[in-house]
Amino acid sequence: SSSSTSSKTYIIATDKTYAPFEMTDKKGKLIGIDMDLMRAIAKNQNFKIKINSLGFDAACTALESGEADGVIAGMTITDARKKKYDFSDQYYKTGVSMAVAKKSSIKGYADLKGKTVVAKTSTAGLAFAQSIKSKYGFKLNVVEESSMMYETVKSGEAVACFEDTPVLKYMIGQGQLNFKLPTKSENPSYYGFAVLKGENATLLKKFNKGLANLKKNGQYDKILAKYE
Ligand code: GLN
Repeated sequence: SSSSTSSKTYIIATDKTYAPFEMTDKKGKLIGIDMDLMRAIAKNQNFKIKINSLGFDAACTALESGEADGVIAGMTITDARKKKYDFSDQYYKTGVSMAVAKKSSIKGYADLKGKTVVAKTSTAGLAFAQSIKSKYGFKLNVVEESSMMYETVKSGEAVACFEDTPVLKYMIGQGQLNFKLPTKSENPSYYGFAVLKGENATLLKKFNKGLANLKKNGQYDKILAKYE
């Protein structure tokens, strides 16, 4: 009934820092496109949420074990994931790029031969790196978090990382990464909010309805503009 659903608090899992989608402000408050969208959708559809900032792989694990009702984490809608999750309507366009240090001489994937690159567990960036690894003959290191991935490139331990294009562009634009993107963005795709397959049609429906309302009433554009 509507009274029981409106009193339920949905647990929403997310990544740690994945700017501009999730990050903390100076006061430690979770902000970013995903956080603002999720809160605005919950408000619009009159449901309560609790956001758990776990890390990307941990957020997926929490969803699969039933510890979270949904994941919003700059998660790319992929066919592989559709086997396990139901996705909301898409809410943001993405792709994967290779990033190297600003001073790097690497201009393309062919320059990676014999070198070490890094990517983050369970991500689209890792999947792309794996897909070209043998062709270009590089070694691939895997780390848990984006921050570790960037440190690995900064220290020279890896010559490149593979990460979502909007994330890299935002970080570079904000002066948070002294990196450049020598190649084009690959695998154009979209972000979606995910629930466990077949398990949470109610929440998914509310998300889609709220998202559509936010697009109509201008709130969606306002949220995006905040993080340009
Ligand atoms: N968009 C990427 C993916 O879905 C990475 C998400 C993330 O690291 N938060 O795999």
